[in-house]
Amino acid sequence: MTPSLNRIAHIESWKKTSLGTPIELFSSRPLTELRDQKPLLLIGGVHGDEPEGVRLARETLSWLKTQDENVIVPWILIPSLNVDGLAKKTRGNARGVDLNRNYPSADWTPKFEKERYFPGPAPASEPEVQGIVELIRDFKPRLIIHCHSWNPCIVGTGPRAQMDAKRLSESSGYELVPEIGYPTPGSLSRYGWHDLSIPIICIEEDDKNPDFDAIWPRFQTGMTAVFKDRSLREEAK
Ligand SMILES: [Zn+2]
Repeated sequence: MTPSLNRIAHIESWKKTSLGTPIELFSSRPLTELRDQKPLLLIGGVHGDEPEGVRLARETLSWLKTQDENVIVPWILIPSLNVDGLAKKTRGNARGVDLNRNYPSADWTPKFEKERYFPGPAPASEPEVQGIVELIRDFKPRLIIHCHSWNPCIVGTGPRAQMDAKRLSESSGYELVPEIGYPTPGSLSRYGWHDLSIPIICIEEDDKNPDFDAIWPRFQTGMTAVFKDRSLREEAK
């Protein structure tokens, strides 16, 4: 291990869930120094029953810790957003809310067809989502990647997400798709891209593959290319 090349910051209790469980956050520099940097935001563990996404976020963090900050983009990384769900192996948080239906998007709705998509009592009712909304407001990320598991695919929402989504698709061999294929009111992609024009990538790792050690090797080439591309993703409209 080389001496520290960077000034990575770690906040052990960035936000607390409704149960008071701390959510940790890492960033390439102290957050106060990232205000005008449009950092890349990476989120793992949105759904507590998708530990593959937490593994990918943590592996990405381990790689970032070895990198000279001058060759990678500024970044903010939350390894596990839904810490209570992860502990209980439930999709929703402690209040049974699907965090990817709770964003205050223009299309948020209290209606839901299945319990697994419960959007919460109000938009951004959940502290986990409030935290992400605040990060988006304060830092205007150049790109947001959130890591899930389901049928393997890479969902790149909006034209400015396509270059990076293609890198992740080619690295993993997972299909690149423009939308997940069913309505997702209140999701991060609806809020981030459709309302705020921030490119969003959703990585769906294969939830049928039990080999967690294969996750990082599958994404390493793509993820490192994404983090080494210092453009602001503002070219394509
Ligand atoms: Zn998910």
